[in-house]
Amino acid sequence: MTNFNNSKMNVDALFLGPKSENAVFFKEMMEYSVTEHMHWRSGYHPEDPEYLTTVDRYAPEYRDTLYRTEGILTQLSSKLKTTSIPWFSPRYMGHMNADTLMISNLAYVMAMMYNPNNCAQESSPTTTVLELEAGLDLCAMFGYNVHQSWGHITSGGTVANYEGLWVARNIKTLPLAIAKHPQAKKLIKDKSESALLNMQTSAVLDLIDELKKQKLFEEVRDLTCRGEGVEQGKLGKLLVPQSKHYSWMKAMDILGLGQQNIVQLPVNASYRTDITQMRQIVFSLIEKGEPILAVVAVVGTTETGAIDNVAELVTLRRECEICFGVSFYIHVDAAYAGYACAMFRDENNQFIEYETLIKRYHTEGIFPQDVTWPKPDVYQSFKALQEVDSITVDPHKVGFIPYAAGAICMKDKRIVDLISYHAAYVFEEVAEKNNKTDKQQNVLLGSSIMEGSKAGATAAAVWAAHRLVPLNILGYGKVIAAGVTTANWMIEGMNASEAFEVDGRRFEICAMSSPDFHMVNFMFKEAGNTSLEKQNQLNKRLYELCSFAAGRSYTNDFLTSSTSLTFEEYGDNPRNFCREAGFSDQEWQKVHSLYVLRAAIMTHCLRDKQHFADFWAELRHIFSGKLQQLIDEENKQSHSKQKITI
Ligand SMILES: *Cc1c(COP(=O)(O)O)cnc(C)c1O
Repeated sequence: MTNFNNSKMNVDALFLGPKSENAVFFKEMMEYSVTEHMHWRSGYHPEDPEYLTTVDRYAPEYRDTLYRTEGILTQLSSKLKTTSIPWFSPRYMGHMNADTLMISNLAYVMAMMYNPNNCAQESSPTTTVLELEAGLDLCAMFGYNVHQSWGHITSGGTVANYEGLWVARNIKTLPLAIAKHPQAKKLIKDKSESALLNMQTSAVLDLIDELKKQKLFEEVRDLTCRGEGVEQGKLGKLLVPQSKHYSWMKAMDILGLGQQNIVQLPVNASYRTDITQMRQIVFSLIEKGEPILAVVAVVGTTETGAIDNVAELVTLRRECEICFGVSFYIHVDAAYAGYACAMFRDENNQFIEYETLIKRYHTEGIFPQDVTWPKPDVYQSFKALQEVDSITVDPHKVGFIPYAAGAICMKDKRIVDLISYHAAYVFEEVAEKNNKTDKQQNVLLGSSIMEGSKAGATAAAVWAAHRLVPLNILGYGKVIAAGVTTANWMIEGMNASEAFEVDGRRFEICAMSSPDFHMVNFMFKEAGNTSLEKQNQLNKRLYELCSFAAGRSYTNDFLTSSTSLTFEEYGDNPRNFCREAGFSDQEWQKVHSLYVLRAAIMTHCLRDKQHFADFWAELRHIFSGKLQQLIDEENKQSHSKQKITI
């Protein structure tokens, strides 16, 4: 990873800004990006004739076509301006969206002009290399050895999860395939089927090396599920937390593994996977002789931002290997919080000791004195990422990069050969060889990934971001800390807030306290109301007033998202938040669902306490207005109902 001395990186200089504060610079660079490309065109074989003369350009249809182009763009712009979501503003507090990095928008446009297709390097000589470099940047951030790992960009976390499960599935069937092959089977001696289905990832990958040496790999690979299909239920269970993203359901469906083979791991009061129950489930599967296809941990759940205890999961696997000779694949879905791993790495990419880390946060102004992040077990989770087999991470979430940019990192790149449709050697140290022009390689990304044709511009956007904003405490660390800080202040503000007095009615606001990352779940509550159903209706209505659903995004004062914390997904854990808000356990039992407003706080603009205080005052004002609007509507409704009864 390139080592910049970035101690003076200024967060405000990274974004266009909510008022387009960096407009002059941005425009200049945007023009540069496009102008450079135009020079590139005109400089290409200058001896070639121009195919269009001035006279041609006066043809009526020619003019007409240009006018229509302009007209359509005007139309599009007007549509976009009317109905797009103002993610750049701190007033937007909903999904994992915020302003995007100028560098990435510029790099995207610059590369897009060349229209590279990262499916094959022959269509993207530049951006394929950038994609692999960006992938290795992420591997390094997670603590993988960059000489042994590999990562690449996907369209998003969903596809990255598919790929994680794809390799987990294929690796599971390789030992079985070896057993079926007359020459290869001596490699596994006389292991039982159950032993073959419970091998360590690294042991299976060593077998690949052996098969290659004996020139049997491709024949054996044809006998894996990739050639023979998946036998129903044979590959065992996928263990995912109840808090999972729904892409795991889709993944089991698409990969033919069957959703009924998902075992949901219950979560605890912190909305993290319950370690004790996870252990029990794993042990009982082992006892029953049921193989474990993979265990998924989530680092930053989509609904509450909870960070599963990855270290405990890694320990559990080691225990299973030692005590039972059983192993399983571990995938971490860090689509949301993965980039936060940068917050733990120093300028030399070393994982910082906990005490040193907290000290540096405070002495270097990354966090204000009144915010302490992370909790020790969250710290341990990030530290343990280097031990897991693969990781999903979304540059288009906490990487502040425009869509569509997800990524997957795999600890051991030998695993790629299990899904690859091309000879094995293509990724050999590409990133390091990219300066050599003597022997050009044609990396066929498309043959080893889920997607085919895909934008090289995305790779340029991610690569450029990593160059300007290093994946360490002083780069992304600073940017992400701004959001975490604001989230902390927001929760404090909400929980200390005086009630809102509107039309003689009183409303309180309360936030779920102490999240693992920067997701704030909050709700309003009318004083005196004891009905959870009414409570849910109130917040649902508020969501509608403060969201896309209001039918006006640009003129809305505040935008948020929402979710329901249900018994099905979270067991009785949401009951705690119900209790804090003053609802009885009977109410929870009756309704078994809690509707909350949900805000991923990612803005970089409010990290100054005074800015935050001003914003918070304004927000309180806005909340009062929303409550007033709600009451007005209620009054209007009851009024019209009365009319009908008359
Ligand atoms: C967002 C998210 C996904 C899906 O990622 P996309 O980029 O939307 O495809 C998967 N898992 C988690 C935990 C997420 O937060």
